[in-house]
Amino acid sequence: MASFSLANLIDGALHAPLGGAYLDVYEPATGKVFAHCPDSDARDVEAAVAAARRAAPAWAALPIAERARCLQRLADAVEGHLDDLAGDESRDTGKPVALARRVDIPRAVANLRFFAEAIAQWSSEAHVDARATNYTLRQPLGVAGCISPWNLPLYLFTWKIAPALAAGNTVVAKPSEITPLTAFRLSELAIECGLPAGVLNIVHGLGPKVGKAIVEHPEVKAVSFTGSTRTGAAIAAAAARQFKKVSLEMGGKNPAIVFADADLSDANLDTIVRSGFSNQGEICLCGSRLLVERSIYDDFKRRYLARVQALRVGDPDDEATDLGALVSKPHFDKVMACIARAREEGGTLLAGGRAVEVPGRCAGGWFVAPTVIEGLPQDGATNREEIFGPVVTLIPFDSEDQAVEIANGTDYGLAASLWTRDIARVQRVSARIDFGIVWVNCWMLRDLRTPFGGTKQSGMGREGGVDALRFFTEAKNVCVAH
Ligand code: NAD
Repeated sequence: MASFSLANLIDGALHAPLGGAYLDVYEPATGKVFAHCPDSDARDVEAAVAAARRAAPAWAALPIAERARCLQRLADAVEGHLDDLAGDESRDTGKPVALARRVDIPRAVANLRFFAEAIAQWSSEAHVDARATNYTLRQPLGVAGCISPWNLPLYLFTWKIAPALAAGNTVVAKPSEITPLTAFRLSELAIECGLPAGVLNIVHGLGPKVGKAIVEHPEVKAVSFTGSTRTGAAIAAAAARQFKKVSLEMGGKNPAIVFADADLSDANLDTIVRSGFSNQGEICLCGSRLLVERSIYDDFKRRYLARVQALRVGDPDDEATDLGALVSKPHFDKVMACIARAREEGGTLLAGGRAVEVPGRCAGGWFVAPTVIEGLPQDGATNREEIFGPVVTLIPFDSEDQAVEIANGTDYGLAASLWTRDIARVQRVSARIDFGIVWVNCWMLRDLRTPFGGTKQSGMGREGGVDALRFFTEAKNVCVAH
């Protein structure tokens, strides 16, 4: 297929970038350019913010049921194109098309539907005493900025846009320049399904140009960001100068802790494997440090490795593929360098540790074998820093205290999973580990009503449910004297 050019969505229509410049978009499975994404700049952001400002009063004034209907129509459109969008997402990211069809696109639909329903059910507080009734208005902020990463493109893009719109804001959003395709498709669908002009604006381009312009624009009243900790820090600093609301979802170095009393059924082992390698390990929630109680370590290792070695790395289009390509050549190089560094740190490779050549159309793709490493120091870079690829370290522990200490031994605090049958232990360990999300005998089991986010360098604020609606609104207390 010949390559094609994407466009920005501004004021209800598709526009070429004002500067006329484009970026190459690669298909990770082949290493070839297949599309061109606008290399927009501050002028495009200015036009988008102006459109969003014009649209804001009417959107905020729409009856809630009407706003919810608009979101449901968009959800219907995404659902109606599920297969096409899954193919696009797979092509753009390198992830298996089966995964995009099962997880990414259905979740995008769910995000839109969830917040359409949530806003209709949301109520604000009232505080009454003998002197007065206080009630709290939760009013939209105006224009909200949403900036998202490449690993779950449409999934995370809609996770921000949906609550922002539901709460009555208009939006200027920027998807990752590495994976812009499904956000562009969403632009087409938004036009098709009659979302009012200017309510959703999507500007493509580089972080330091487009992202920065969104964050620094004085009319953008809040910024919801998901991406790396380094970018999150830059956004927090820029937003602080204007006392702007920010929500930051950032990196992770998550522990999965397997106690000797865990139910290690085949199904649970499969989940533990999935928690490390799903989406090529490119999920912020992946358990990249697998802590295993020493008394079961050898037996667990044998069963775990057999499963990891059976994972199929291959063409994302192949329904049988478990791991597709890594998202970009720079990311592939980074992951390979992390594996080399783990060797230098004294780690023993138990599985993988190498690039995989997939023959045929994928000969130029960026594939890495699922990699398991043991014998690494706790304070080394491999066990402390995010790799964001198919790399898991195995770590034995001798006691609950030691497991907690190891788990907490990174600067990140996004998600942990515990595998045990002991409910008292679940309560003790959950209270002591410093993570925003704790899964017990499961992984990535999501209820969209729950607070989602991390501690330490993984996050600031929470997304999901009421937390997202609160973020995208300003609380105004009205005190009426009796
Ligand atoms: P990234 O920080 O490089 O980019 C994320 C987004 O920010 C992109 O759209 C990028 O263009 C934009 N950006 C870059 N510089 C900017 C700037 N100066 N100002 C404004 N915007 C800017 O992250 P990435 O490599 O795309 O994504 C991978 C990272 O995302 C990993 O660290 C991963 O853990 C994290 N992540 C976190 C979560 C979560 O929920 N906590 C979910 C998914 C991914």
